[in-house]
Amino acid sequence: MLKRKASHVLAALFFFNSFFAINTAYAEQVVVYSARIEQLIKPMFDAFTKDTGIRVRYTTDKEGALLARLKAEGKNTPADMLITADAGNLWEAARAGLLMSVNSEVLSKNIPAHLRDPENAWFGLSVRARTIVYNTRKVDPTDLSTYEDLADAKWEKRLCLRTSKKVYNQSLVAMMIAEHGEAESEKVVRGWIANLATDPLSDDTRAMEFVAAGRCDVTLVNTYYYGRLMKKDPNLPLAIFWPNQNNSGVHVNISGAGITRHSKNEKAAIKLLEYLSSKKAQNLFADVNMEYPVNPEIEPDPVVAAWGSFKQNPMNIVKAGELQTTAVKLMDRAGYR
Ligand code: FE
Repeated sequence: MLKRKASHVLAALFFFNSFFAINTAYAEQVVVYSARIEQLIKPMFDAFTKDTGIRVRYTTDKEGALLARLKAEGKNTPADMLITADAGNLWEAARAGLLMSVNSEVLSKNIPAHLRDPENAWFGLSVRARTIVYNTRKVDPTDLSTYEDLADAKWEKRLCLRTSKKVYNQSLVAMMIAEHGEAESEKVVRGWIANLATDPLSDDTRAMEFVAAGRCDVTLVNTYYYGRLMKKDPNLPLAIFWPNQNNSGVHVNISGAGITRHSKNEKAAIKLLEYLSSKKAQNLFADVNMEYPVNPEIEPDPVVAAWGSFKQNPMNIVKAGELQTTAVKLMDRAGYR
């Protein structure tokens, strides 16, 4: 009898101890909704947990689904952080009141001002450069200069473009509107459409495949797609050209994050956000997708660095969100499908 009781006590003690151990190991946790896929985020979360003891739980989905979910959950959301690509999407989340303003000296120091929200609702964590890729057998790079110049008649039937339905070229045109105004930008977009060698294509990779196959000579893509394609087939006659180096600079966008307005673990979530901008996590964040670190003190991956350095457009990418609707309407008017 006594023996049995003792074993019960022991079992209870054991249970209590292991329960306690689990809970002290993860005294804090952060819940992340991420439009970046698992393989692009898990390495940093694991490193963060190892360094801080804070556990990270995450759900991945398309950005639209995550925004809808945050809206529907309202105050009851379990999410502390939203991670997504493109300033347009983060701007939309902020506008819908889903993110809180975060004042952090670490974030201000690690992230250049043009790559974070002026109201501090979201912060860039990696940089994606949208640039010109050309066929090395058909184009003399000294003939290339700017995005705007691709509207010139000398590129007639030589240009391929990705569809206007995807946010990437919407953001590019939005930033162009911020710089030149609507009338001037519409002239450029109309010129591009007049120069198309083929109907707009489904994605950046397909556009480059058309250029490589000689069906057009130039296109506009995010460099990580170029990196992926060249890794698969290094002999393709494709090269990168950095446009607008004597004026506005290369159009850049971000993937980034914000803390949800109804976060229950605000302190731990800010700690994670700061960690993601730090030296330790920046290469993990950028290199896995052949993007550029947002923190200018960190060198990109050697493969990416070999594409050369370039001047970025220093205008705040919040404009990509603010002018997105204007850009979409303009592209539609100009016949850009
Ligand atoms: Fe992409």
